[in-house]
Amino acid sequence: MHEMAIAQQIVGIVEDTLRSHPNAKCKTVHVRIGELTAVIPESLTFAYQAITTDTPLSESILKIKSMPILAECKSCLQKFGIKDFDFLCPFCQSQDLEVRQGKELHVEKLELDE
Ligand SMILES: [Zn+2]
Repeated sequence: MHEMAIAQQIVGIVEDTLRSHPNAKCKTVHVRIGELTAVIPESLTFAYQAITTDTPLSESILKIKSMPILAECKSCLQKFGIKDFDFLCPFCQSQDLEVRQGKELHVEKLELDE
């Protein structure tokens, strides 16, 4: 399962950070996930909870910020949002687009209780 592997990566990042803050407890993990990654937030939350049960992270909360897909048209240089994975410029109908946002998948910040 896609989300399980991603949850494991997130837990790895959190554990690495906590190593330099030995007395801290992680309260909230903020992650940014682009719509192009096809990650289902509910599934990722479920996977995260499953992995962190009975670990020091069991009480931490995963907060997911979903990033919409934004593209720039290489023909007319307009910027616009992509809906329903329809990769067509609404201004000139070109398919020569560059995705500017929507591919990200990273831990934005951790809220620690020190
Ligand atoms: Zn265009």
